[in-house]
Amino acid sequence: MTSLPVLPLSTGAPPRRPARPPRHLADLDLAGRQALVVELGEPAFRAKQLSTHYFGRLVRDPAQMTDLPAAARERLAESLMPTLLTAVREMACDDGATRKALWRLHDGALVESVLMGYQDRVTVCISSQAGCGMACPFCATGQAGLTRNLSTAEIVDQAVYLAGVAASGAVSGSPPRLSHVVFMGMGEPLANYARVIEAIRRLCAPAPEGLGLSQRHITVSTVGLVPAMRKLAEEELSVTLALSLHAPDDELRDELVPVNQRWKVSEVLDAAWDYAARTGRRVSIEYAMIRDVNDQPWRADLLGRLLAGRLAHVNLIPLNPTPGSRWDASPKPVEREFVRRLRAAGVSTTVRDTRGREIDGACGQLAASETGSADGR
Ligand code: SAH
Repeated sequence: MTSLPVLPLSTGAPPRRPARPPRHLADLDLAGRQALVVELGEPAFRAKQLSTHYFGRLVRDPAQMTDLPAAARERLAESLMPTLLTAVREMACDDGATRKALWRLHDGALVESVLMGYQDRVTVCISSQAGCGMACPFCATGQAGLTRNLSTAEIVDQAVYLAGVAASGAVSGSPPRLSHVVFMGMGEPLANYARVIEAIRRLCAPAPEGLGLSQRHITVSTVGLVPAMRKLAEEELSVTLALSLHAPDDELRDELVPVNQRWKVSEVLDAAWDYAARTGRRVSIEYAMIRDVNDQPWRADLLGRLLAGRLAHVNLIPLNPTPGSRWDASPKPVEREFVRRLRAAGVSTTVRDTRGREIDGACGQLAASETGSADGR
């Protein structure tokens, strides 16, 4: 290899276009990794070796890959395993069963991921963008706007890191193996469509190509970008689609989920039913319960009429507090009445637990500031 002159890292002036995230093996499928390894003058089998470390053993630090000759290891690590995520802070609550990690990316952008251990499964909630451009007024991530899309590897690396935390036995009372991934962290996954699809392929490909998760255990949550929902239905993936509905009527949804001004409730639900028909998967309807805003009995009845007889499940989310918000969660009796009315309409309904509230790790609380309100424990 010829060595290039070292360029100054900073010229003082801000770059006009931010540098792309460095390429990483998780951006490529196994064939792509093999081609690259050969280009670097190494035998193709090294691609599998690296992949087995990363996806099979959850080893992210090349220094620990001692079965690779030192020189090759350095060269391969530089081209295929650059550091993508640097931990800024990790926090835990629920006796360690909920953990939030705050990451700094190569360009200084910040994102968060959350691990949730249950008796029968381990779920990670990952970010697909730094920030979010969808501007939902009750969501902390929406308030700061979009910084940028994450690369496929930046998305996957969050899951691989947290899978390693689970495998280390850090989450007592839960199985050691990561089983579920939800795209419910920062960002709108369907606004970063191609990279998210690639990330799903990596998460679900069997090791050593990928993490070997079941597609059915992946949930993609969207504000309702109708063309992208329709495209997703064509991908022949059996991932679960979650639709952040939050209101059954356009007047209120226009305010709560501003993208509704572009795609109305009826259009977004049509796309959801087409997804269900195409994949045979029940669509999850997300509904944050906001006191005196969207929790009236008539709205429960209207929602019930829209969903009755459909392949749908409603997930009510007690509104989590976000800084400066004028809204709070519905009182429990109001919530119970809402559930009762939906069930009476024949719609399966559950109330989501509010895991991670104390560490600002619950739904809608991810805002990635370096001066978090909770202390690390
Ligand atoms: N952009 C995607 C992915 C984010 S998922 C989407 O909106 O679906 C996060 C889920 O938490 C979404 O259903 C979102 O609407 C919901 N949420 C956002 N802020 C919340 C809050 N303050 N309390 C409860 N749920 C919230």
